[in-house]
Amino acid sequence: MNFTDLGLAEPLLRAVKDQGYDIPTPIQAQAIPQVLKGGDLLAGAQTGTGKTAGFVLPMLQRLSAVKPVKDARGRVPIRCLILTPTRELAAQVEESVRTYGKYLPLTSMVMFGGVGMQPQVDKLRRGVDILVATPGRLLDHHQQRTLDLGQVEILVLDEADRMLDMGFIHDIKKVLAVLPAKKQSLLFSATFSDEIKALADRLLNAPALIEVARRNQTAETIAQKLHPVGRERKKELLAHLIKSGDWHQVLVFTRMKHGANRLTDYLNDQGISAMAIHGNKSQGARTKALADFKAGGLQVLVATDIAARGIDIDQLPHVVNFELPNVPEDYVHRIGRTGRAGAQGEAISLVCLDEEIFLKDIERLIKRSIPREVIPGFEPAAGEKAEPIVLGRMTIGIGGTQRHGGGGGRGGYGGGGGGGRRPSGGGQGSGRAGGSRPPSRAGAPKR
Ligand code: AMP
Repeated sequence: MNFTDLGLAEPLLRAVKDQGYDIPTPIQAQAIPQVLKGGDLLAGAQTGTGKTAGFVLPMLQRLSAVKPVKDARGRVPIRCLILTPTRELAAQVEESVRTYGKYLPLTSMVMFGGVGMQPQVDKLRRGVDILVATPGRLLDHHQQRTLDLGQVEILVLDEADRMLDMGFIHDIKKVLAVLPAKKQSLLFSATFSDEIKALADRLLNAPALIEVARRNQTAETIAQKLHPVGRERKKELLAHLIKSGDWHQVLVFTRMKHGANRLTDYLNDQGISAMAIHGNKSQGARTKALADFKAGGLQVLVATDIAARGIDIDQLPHVVNFELPNVPEDYVHRIGRTGRAGAQGEAISLVCLDEEIFLKDIERLIKRSIPREVIPGFEPAAGEKAEPIVLGRMTIGIGGTQRHGGGGGRGGYGGGGGGGRRPSGGGQGSGRAGGSRPPSRAGAPKR
């Protein structure tokens, strides 16, 4: 299968060629012809599968095939709306729209909160064909009547599961209510929970269904290993790995925002340039950190899961789990940042005794055990014992999961009751395959 077999017009094929893509990815091979037909689509695909081009390319073709009805001042209306959960993803999707649409006379704009409204208002006034937005800021504009969604022909919900995880369901419903009833709707989601199914039922009309291979199986091109490490030695081990391996571009994950900050300070003290991105950082700081990192000016980017969602860096060679995620599916998302689209990548996890409990869930989900390699001098000390891990209002440890305050009650680790964490392998199959995310999301600390 070649890009030329998919029914794409010449300006799009040229843009694809400029990117150096030869063969469509499975999601592209399936989604592009479906979207070109004009019907609705429900697609199960994660970041890293090439899903963005899968909807952007045919969407551009459909928009360019029809002349828009301009208003009295000659401005185009918003004809395509793409909603994403995070600012970073919105920015990346809009960048893809510009990349793939560079030989077409269509205009696009990205819109998210945390930055001034007025420049966005000015841009909207000039007219845009394609708007990529996060739901909150879109609704702000709608309330202030600075944008009109009455002419939208195509709606895309990207990473819909993450939007629901982040509590955007009400915002999404509000947006749907102001869109024209007659439109083409595309819904992309990594999971099909009951909530997603309900949203799809409400939004989509006789959709085509596409699902590409789960990345639970973790891409073949990603070499995974873990280093057992003493609880207090992780920072030193990370600095040692970066220096001895002469790593220049490393994405490092921590569970919590303050952990990300502390690690960043430590690395900078060690002469390793590092910045953190997480929900407490201003949009300007996040954008700058990401741009520096992409350009190769920053050795280490330290991120929490939500901040890193959708970050797309070509050929990222190293991903480090400084701490294992408590939600096993996040491990798959994290290491999916490397080894993309066939490139070789390495994912390393620094695991102390306390985290063995998370490791078990992860290995059950990915259906393989991660090779262990002890780095002499950094392994846990002989007398070191596992201690419970405190995650905001929850404590997770050998004996079980406990929630503090807020009436969460006590949920045995194996039982998955109350506010406790569901063991991913138990009862409902392994994690993602079961569809929904563990209920711990709701009780987990903000990241
Ligand atoms: P996505 O899943 O949309 O975030 O895309 C993941 C990565 O794959 C991006 O870096 C794209 O530039 C790249 N990519 C998308 N389509 C292809 C393709 N057909 N061949 C090679 N790389 C691709």
